[in-house]
Amino acid sequence: MQRKRGEFWRPPDPLLVDAGGPGELTVARIRLVVIAFFAFDMLVGLWRDAPTTTTKLETTAAVIAMVIAFGLYLLIKRDRYELWIGFASSILDITLVSAVLVAAVLIGSPQLVVESRVWFVLYILAIAATSLRSDRRISLVAGLLAAAQYVWVLAFAAAHWPADNPPVPIRSHALSLIMMGCAIWISTSLAVRTQRLRLISAKDPLTGLVARGFFLELIEAELYRAKRYGRKVSLALIDVDHFKSFNDNFGHTVGDEVLRLIAKMLRTGRETDLAGRYGGEEFLLMFPETDAAGATKRAEQIRNIIGTSSVTVSIGVAEFPTDGVDLETLIDCADVRLYEAKNAGRNRVVGPRGPVPQGTLRAAFERPTHEYDTIPFETE
Ligand code: GH3
Ligand code: MG
Ligand code: MG
Repeated sequence: MQRKRGEFWRPPDPLLVDAGGPGELTVARIRLVVIAFFAFDMLVGLWRDAPTTTTKLETTAAVIAMVIAFGLYLLIKRDRYELWIGFASSILDITLVSAVLVAAVLIGSPQLVVESRVWFVLYILAIAATSLRSDRRISLVAGLLAAAQYVWVLAFAAAHWPADNPPVPIRSHALSLIMMGCAIWISTSLAVRTQRLRLISAKDPLTGLVARGFFLELIEAELYRAKRYGRKVSLALIDVDHFKSFNDNFGHTVGDEVLRLIAKMLRTGRETDLAGRYGGEEFLLMFPETDAAGATKRAEQIRNIIGTSSVTVSIGVAEFPTDGVDLETLIDCADVRLYEAKNAGRNRVVGPRGPVPQGTLRAAFERPTHEYDTIPFETE
């Protein structure tokens, strides 16, 4: 139980953080639509009826809220999503609803808080929207905050209740609070399930590396940032040499073990480098903020490390933006270089300047890699 509780509060897997980005963008759009509707409604009211100080104030507040919502939308569209953004914007949405209700009480309309169902629905919408951030902690924290603020706003309205009005119907609000509790439950469960499903689809079950589809999404996001900040990103496409004959010699189970071992070796790089399984015996590495020279050097180290096992690899390296500005062109370029490496005799790295001169370790792997006589690697 203790362990489960600790698990609940653990930040999501770094692989899932970027998943909150599209959700946050959807929330930003919904926020904009809701506020635009309110602003429009108020402007129409202002035009139709004689404006009072209150309606002018309300309209100004709605227009300011719309400007803020639009600013938030642009910001979220441009920037990388981070966990705190989800927390901050969820809390902001809920607090905005409460702020409007408090303002209504202060300008002498506590009835708005108690009688208008629209505001209660807005709390529910804000709670539902938390699930789009795909972080169960955000759903629970923001949901409980909404419930607390709702109770407090009701108490505030009751304290300012005009003496000549009928008393506040407490029972119906107790029921509303139960509905709110259920909404929190649903949004938190939805976030838990989304996280679980996303994690299943994000990882390759055999190697534990990032799976192809998810990895390509991560590269796209990195390319977007690189374009924006004028940085470089390099990719390396890795293919195991003569793996078919390795399987034929030792069987697929041993082949699988080798793929797992390679995955482990690929994870030994810098923390910001990311390794993914591209296809059967093909892997993809992404080196953020690294040029082709740096990536080729790193690829050469990887080739040497893998070469100490029973197989060798060929690697093609491509650099953003020199070799291409979109994902497809970059992967094509790395693929062309990978095949150059294969044609040049395998067990080598080809970057933008052609094959890398082989290091001293090469001699050890000079033998034809498909002629295996023993199982020369250690399984754990
Ligand atoms: P090359 O040096 O030209 O790349 O030769 P190759 O034999 O590696 O290339 P080919 O594309 O002909 O064969 C790829 C092999 O990879 C075929 C398949 O048996 C093996 N393979 C792909 N996925 C897996 C896997 O998940 N497990 C195992 N054990 N083998 C796999
Ligand atoms: Mg292949
Ligand atoms: Mg191969």
